[in-house]
Amino acid sequence: MMELFRRLWKMIEVPSLDPDESRRARLLNILLLGLLPLVILMIIVLLFDIAFKLPGWEMLYPTLWTCIAYSISTLLIVRLNRAGKIRFASILFLIMLAISIATANINLLVAGESMFYFVVPVMVSSVLLTPSASFVTALSIGAMISVIGFLYNVSAGFYLSTFPLLAIALVSWLTARSLENALTDLRLINQELDARVIRRTQELAQANQQLGAQAYELAQANLQLAQQADDLSNANACLERQTQELSSANEKLKSLDRLKSKFVSDVTHELRTPISNLTIYMEMLRLGKAERQERYIKVLEEEINRLAQLVQDVLDLTRMELGTRKTEFHWIDFNQVIDQVFIANHLRAEVKGLKMAFEPAAYMPPLWADASQLKQVATNLIGNAVNYTPKGEIKIRTLYDAGQKHAVLQVEDTGMGIHVEDLPHIFERFYRGAQASQSSIPGTGLGLSITKEIVETHKGRIEIASQLGSGSTFTIFLPVMDGDQANGAEAVGGGE
Ligand code: ADP
Repeated sequence: MMELFRRLWKMIEVPSLDPDESRRARLLNILLLGLLPLVILMIIVLLFDIAFKLPGWEMLYPTLWTCIAYSISTLLIVRLNRAGKIRFASILFLIMLAISIATANINLLVAGESMFYFVVPVMVSSVLLTPSASFVTALSIGAMISVIGFLYNVSAGFYLSTFPLLAIALVSWLTARSLENALTDLRLINQELDARVIRRTQELAQANQQLGAQAYELAQANLQLAQQADDLSNANACLERQTQELSSANEKLKSLDRLKSKFVSDVTHELRTPISNLTIYMEMLRLGKAERQERYIKVLEEEINRLAQLVQDVLDLTRMELGTRKTEFHWIDFNQVIDQVFIANHLRAEVKGLKMAFEPAAYMPPLWADASQLKQVATNLIGNAVNYTPKGEIKIRTLYDAGQKHAVLQVEDTGMGIHVEDLPHIFERFYRGAQASQSSIPGTGLGLSITKEIVETHKGRIEIASQLGSGSTFTIFLPVMDGDQANGAEAVGGGE
């Protein structure tokens, strides 16, 4: 149904740029195709009448031919109209309509009875062509009627029928003109509206564009704000970190200050004993019996040595802490360094009745280290082993741990051992184990602190295994560097 309607509409529709032209062509098609079914129906009725020879059938032939001619002409005019020849098609239609009315029943026309039918082409012409076309049509029909009147020799009154047609033409002209004017006004309003819509659309598009630009700027500003917030939070985090660093540095400084005070008081305390001993024995030397003088001198010598050792140890420790003690790294033979210390202490051990042996590692790569500092480490460890071993033996060995790339020094004794409570403290300055303090073994309590400092300067570590009454084993691990690493280490801090 819809499809049929669509097809019919397509037949009626005539595309044209001029809306008036298009309207007129559409109207023409509606008139033509609207009248066609009626005419076809009429042809059928006429054919029926003629076929059954109904009364007056002979008179029907002219009407039948007219209807057939009308139908064929209708189709032709529709084609012309659709081909764009709108005006020509309209004129042809009007002529056809006028002729059809005239020829359908000439007797009725001549009698003046079918005259009013001509109203239709007159009125239609003003709508199909121009409003004033109704006058031309009325006059043309008047002329045609005059010719017919002349041919059929009718009375003069017949010719007067042109005047009502002219009146109809006037009415038609007025109506069509007002209709066209209204249409033109409507069209103008429509154009104005269209222009306004375009203007508003443009304005809206511009506003939209501006909004877009502003949204972009806002997004940019937002981004900058986020960036600044990020920067601020970074700065804040940095500030917090620095505050933390400062407060921890402050804490460190405070604890260093406390350590320094403790160190000074410890040194003073440690100095007091040998100095008071020196004073006492000097007095005894001056006042005592002559045969005891040698013993007093021996004690004085021991106290002076103890004092000298104490001063030396304090100096070493202080220099190390201040960084003024120079660490001179060289490629050294670790076995040889330890052997020298072993030889230096060997006699002391023998005098004490101790067995002391050194087992050097079969393979030991050159070590990037300060030989004199490592000598001090070995001297401290071997010296302690001799001091704190009343009887038995001391085993010194060097090892090379190829897996970990470590040079290892181990000093093992069968001495008095270290109390488990003393173990966590023996690297503290001036700390002496219970055993050591109670015995008459001389010492400052600084040797292991210095040893630990030196080992750490060489990026190594120290371990102790000790059993009270059975003996102790001190082991130090020193990293073995290859040439490149050694150069790097030297560049960083080797030349201290
Ligand atoms: P010092 O030997 O002058 O007292 P150290 O710093 O060298 O000072 O040693 C600290 C303490 O560790 C000693 O007083 C001692 O109690 C304990 N100690 C060190 N080496 C040994 C050892 N081989 N055997 C037993 N105790 C030891």
